[in-house]
Amino acid sequence: MDSIREIEGLVRAVYGELIEVLSGTADPVAAFQTRSVGTVVVGDRVALKSIEVEEGEVGWRVAGLHKREHCLWRSSRRRRSQLVVSNVDRLCIVSALEPPPREGLIDRYLLAAEWQEIEPVILFNKMDLEGAEETFRRLDVYATLGYEVIPTSAVTGVGIEGVAGLLSRGMSVFVGHSGVGKSALLNRLLPDIDLKIAELSQATGRGRHTTSVATAHPFRDGIVVDTPGIREFGLGDIPAELVSIGFREIHEREDGCRFTDCSHRDEPGCSIREAVKGREISQTRYDSYLRIRESIETGEG
Ligand code: GDP
Ligand code: ZN
Repeated sequence: MDSIREIEGLVRAVYGELIEVLSGTADPVAAFQTRSVGTVVVGDRVALKSIEVEEGEVGWRVAGLHKREHCLWRSSRRRRSQLVVSNVDRLCIVSALEPPPREGLIDRYLLAAEWQEIEPVILFNKMDLEGAEETFRRLDVYATLGYEVIPTSAVTGVGIEGVAGLLSRGMSVFVGHSGVGKSALLNRLLPDIDLKIAELSQATGRGRHTTSVATAHPFRDGIVVDTPGIREFGLGDIPAELVSIGFREIHEREDGCRFTDCSHRDEPGCSIREAVKGREISQTRYDSYLRIRESIETGEG
């Protein structure tokens, strides 16, 4: 080979030791992971160096990894949480009338997003269903807190253009309870998603042995990450005393508590309990805060 070439790109999918990288070219580039850099995840920005795979044929290997920010972890009760996507700009939290949202699930996702400084957006899907309008109103509390809440329907197309506008910039990841319509929304937004799945480089002479838990798809000037292999994202390793980061209305009032390390449970002089009593903080959100904090303290995550 004449000389070693180097390119930069964004990890699009990970199939064991083989990865696919978006590097500005029409097709993703296949590359090998390397022990010196360590395991990469979807969203990572990497440098690739060319290698001679066979006489005259060029392949790529990972030669460098840029600093990761804004990460999402896969939750697991048994194992340590596992990093799945990095450099996420936006978390699209999908909820719907059916299946009804598990209590506190939106709050857990908001916490995961705020913790990693990822912009959360709440989508309420299946607006075409009878009774959806009424349930949608229950999300008013989030709009009041300043979050963007968008009603959508993957069936009628309501709200889809608005969502598409958001996804046109930065990297977005969809999360939510199974069955709320994440795939249906993604199919509507990325109808040719299957066509974009790359053929692995001929030069590597290998097919895919495993499936990628997440895959990044270019969408307009942005990137949308599909995570079919992930049942649920978790809270990573957020310390219990930082849970209020996910509760803006609590976080902004904490300075008013008598104790700087107030947990807002039963300490005297707690400004948060006062605010709940005075209905400035919703009881549901406060209960949710307590539940999440407790689940972290007891190690359930
Ligand atoms: P996911 O598990 O979140 O990916 O959910 P799916 O996209 O697989 O959708 C679950 C079910 O809900 C499927 O039967 C879809 O056809 C249905 N569904 C998805 N979006 C909508 C919607 O906007 N309206 C209605 N009525 N059904 C939907
Ligand atoms: Zn307090």
